[in-house]
Amino acid sequence: MGIKTLAVYSEADVQSLHVQLADEAICIGGNKSADSYLRADRIISAAEIADVDAIHPGYGFLSENPKFAEQCESCNIKFIGPKSKSIKMMGDKAVAKDTVKKAGVPIVPGSDGPVESESDAVKIARKIGYPVIIKAVAGGGGRGMRIAHNDVSFAKEYHVARGEAEKAFGNGAVYIEKYIEKPRHIEFQILADSHGKVLHLGERDCSVQRRHQKLIEESPSPFLTPDLRKKMGKAAIKAAEAAEYENAGTIEFLVDAKGNYYFIEMNTRIQVEHPVTEEVTGIDLIKQQIHVANGDKLDFDQGDVKFEKHAIECRINAEDPARNFAPSPGTIGLYYAPGGHGVRVDSHAYSGYTIPPYYDSMIGKLICYGSTRKVALERAYRALSEYLIRGIKTTIPLHRAIMADPVFIEGKATTAYMEDFLGRTATDLFS
Ligand code: ADP
Repeated sequence: MGIKTLAVYSEADVQSLHVQLADEAICIGGNKSADSYLRADRIISAAEIADVDAIHPGYGFLSENPKFAEQCESCNIKFIGPKSKSIKMMGDKAVAKDTVKKAGVPIVPGSDGPVESESDAVKIARKIGYPVIIKAVAGGGGRGMRIAHNDVSFAKEYHVARGEAEKAFGNGAVYIEKYIEKPRHIEFQILADSHGKVLHLGERDCSVQRRHQKLIEESPSPFLTPDLRKKMGKAAIKAAEAAEYENAGTIEFLVDAKGNYYFIEMNTRIQVEHPVTEEVTGIDLIKQQIHVANGDKLDFDQGDVKFEKHAIECRINAEDPARNFAPSPGTIGLYYAPGGHGVRVDSHAYSGYTIPPYYDSMIGKLICYGSTRKVALERAYRALSEYLIRGIKTTIPLHRAIMADPVFIEGKATTAYMEDFLGRTATDLFS
């Protein structure tokens, strides 16, 4: 688009590829994210020194922080994302559920907002019917979630969930939902402009998760029928409209075996797995985000969005799947990324790069696509075999084993898949 870029970085990230590829880069502080990437004041100062027009917050850190969006707005720097009001509304999961429910979108049965006391909570859990899931109002990243199967385990898990939520999010408030057994996680990509046009760009099936964190995402979902896709797409648009949404966002649903779908949350930012949708639709989501932030109208309609490919993303983490996914930071010796037809790698790593121990363990995303699911999966298997990262442990061998697993190949994976897969697979396969 001919736009110049300025990257901000912490001292630990001086070697990172984004710093080297940006037109300019400014260091905003120390290794810990609390001293750098979470310091809105320093980011805004860097933006003012360099006189930038807009900030893209990426994912993680301040990307879903309404105060940061507000600060950008008040400093006349365009925040490339939704209005702070929408972030606030959808950031509180209890408010988000209430908002979309009023718009007629199905939600998981549960408490009306946060539960006030343990005795209230038990009554609500009994009324909903066990099993239930206790979730942090401020939750994210799969943390602060506990499952209870009866009154006894509820009493215990309720306190554990509150403690975890307080520690992770500084907010101990929790709410209760019916625990859906073996659901699929299916989410819809939304794109909305500031002139009232709201479109969906299809779904991503993110059922392959470990500890409620996504490992593999694909589109289209092997489970959805055209009819269900249509219904859920409409519901996703309604939910985004209820949040007065603009820019890119995601509406997440759980879908049970019968095809009942329930809204669980909205992510008010671009997501890790957005390349899957880009490869299926041919639409550059980041470019569209910049256009929308600039006040431009989306120059296509729902009918123009074509789903012509199948795409699958594997998250490459610096973790050792043979040792219970222990983090594996360190220096990468040789780094070789696969290529060829239908293969895309998004990564900040390279030969000789040292992975700092301070941040997320994800070091790359491998996205493979083709005309059918079979082609995409075969390409993913081939590309994983050619992805060389020496010197540290990664999730590459695990992904290769999943690509060859009959249950996954048949498109039968639910959110219970990983536990089952790990239980029946020898972990020495993964080293
Ligand atoms: P987070 O914001 O922490 O990512 P989500 O609400 O998006 O939390 O849920 C993450 C995952 O947790 C879901 O994809 C699903 O696997 C599981 N989960 C959440 N709510 C429920 C529920 N009511 N029943 C069953 N599984 C759930």
